[in-house]
Amino acid sequence: MPLIVMYTSSGCPYCMMAKHLLTDKGQTWTEIDVEAEPGRRTELMERSGRTSVPQIWIGDRHVGGFDEFADLERRGELDGLLGTSHSREGTEHARVLIAGSGPAGYTAAIYTGRAELEPVMLAGLQFGGQLMLTTEVENYPGFPEGVAGPAMMEMFQKQAERFGTRILMEDATRVDLSRRPFTVESEEHRFSADALIIATGAAARWLGIPSEQRLLNCGVSACATCDGALYRGKEMAVVGGGDTAMEEALFLTRFATKVTVIHRRDQLRASKIMQDRAFQNDKIEFLWDSVVDEVLGEDYLTGVRVVNRKTGTAQEIPVEALFMAIGHKPNTDLVRGQLGLDDVGYIKVEPGSPRTSVAGVFACGDVMDPTYRQAITAAGTGCMAAIDAERWLAEQSAE
Ligand code: NAP
Repeated sequence: MPLIVMYTSSGCPYCMMAKHLLTDKGQTWTEIDVEAEPGRRTELMERSGRTSVPQIWIGDRHVGGFDEFADLERRGELDGLLGTSHSREGTEHARVLIAGSGPAGYTAAIYTGRAELEPVMLAGLQFGGQLMLTTEVENYPGFPEGVAGPAMMEMFQKQAERFGTRILMEDATRVDLSRRPFTVESEEHRFSADALIIATGAAARWLGIPSEQRLLNCGVSACATCDGALYRGKEMAVVGGGDTAMEEALFLTRFATKVTVIHRRDQLRASKIMQDRAFQNDKIEFLWDSVVDEVLGEDYLTGVRVVNRKTGTAQEIPVEALFMAIGHKPNTDLVRGQLGLDDVGYIKVEPGSPRTSVAGVFACGDVMDPTYRQAITAAGTGCMAAIDAERWLAEQSAE
C-alpha cells in the first residue's frame, strides 16, 4: 500500500470528501492540519506550489486537490494508484434511483424510503451539495439557533439511511433514458431503475479569464471554509454580490485583515440581513460597479486588476486570496440530450411539478430551480419528486 499524505484544514469540506473516498477504499493516511499547525503552510507551498487544501500525495505522486483526486476516481485510475482492485458486478435493480444528494436528494430518499421503495442514491463524490460549503444555515425552519451546513447534511443523510436508503458516494456517470427500466451507471455500479430522481444540484461559476484558472489553488479559490484559514493576517477579496458572497466575506473576516467585496453593480443581490451584517463589519469594504479584469501574480496571487464599469478606470488591489462567489450553473451534463433543458441548462419541468420531459424521470432542487435556490425549496421539491415517483410507479403496476 502506498503512503498517503494529505494536507487539510479543520473546516474543509473537500478534505472530508477526500477522506471519505479513501476510507471507502480501505485506506489510511497521514494528515497534516495546516490550520492547527500554521508553520506547515510554507511546507505545503514548497511541496505542492499551492496554497489550498486538501493537497494529496499517493506515494511520491502529488495528486493535487479534491477535484483532481475525484477525477482519478471518475476515470477509473485511482484503484490502480492505490493498489486496490474493483470490478463492476452485473446490473442491479432499483425501484427508485436518486442521482445526487443535498437537501433535494436526501428528502426524496427519506420519502421514497418511508414508502418502502428501497431507494438507491448515487450521492456523488462531492456529496451533500452546496450546503457542504455553507458555514451557517439560519433560515431553515426548525433550527432556531442556526446549524452548520455540513452538520445539517449529515443529519439529512442519517435520516435517509434510517428509512433504508442505500447511499453510494459515487457520481452517476451515464444514464440511458431512452427505454424503461432506465439505466444508470457509476464507476463502480450499474443499475436498472423503474423511476429516476435527478437531484444533481449546481456547481460554482468562474469568471472564465485565463489568469483565474492559472492561479487556481494558488490564491484563487471557490471555498472559503477550506482555504480561508491559510491566509490568516492577509488581505483578501470576494467577487459577487449575492448571499454566498456576503457569507464568505463575513466568514473570511475571522482571518483577514481586510476583505474587499468586488461587485459588478451598485446594489447587492444578497438578502437584507446578510447585507446589513456585511455593511456593519469594519473589516469589509465594497468596490461597486467593478469587475475583475485580470488576476495578478506569477506563482501565487498578488492582487487583482479591477475595472470600474461606469468610468472605465482600472486599479490594482493587492490581495493574497481571491474567492469567487458569482453564482452557480446547474449540473445537467448527465442528462443533456435526453431530458428537456432550458437555455441556461436547467431541467425543464411541468409547471408546479417535478415531472420532466421523460415519464418516470423527476427533477428536484437547484438542477431545476432557477428562481428560489434555497435549501428549504430544494427539500420541498425533493418531497414532491418522491411523491410523484411513488404515484407514477403505482400507476405503472396497476396498468
Ligand atoms: P446569486 O444569488 O446568483 O448571486 C450571484 C452574484 O454574483 C450576483 O450578485 C451577480 O451579480 C454576481 N455575478 C454573476 N455572474 C457574475 C460575473 N460573471 N461577474 C461578476 N459578478 C457576477 O448566487 P449565490 O450568492 O451563490 O446564491 C445562490 C442562492 O443560494 C440564492 O438563492 C441565495 O439566496 C441562496 N443562498 C442563501 C444563503 C443564506 O440564506 N444564508 C447563503 C448562500 C446562498 P448581479 O447581482 O449583478 O446579478
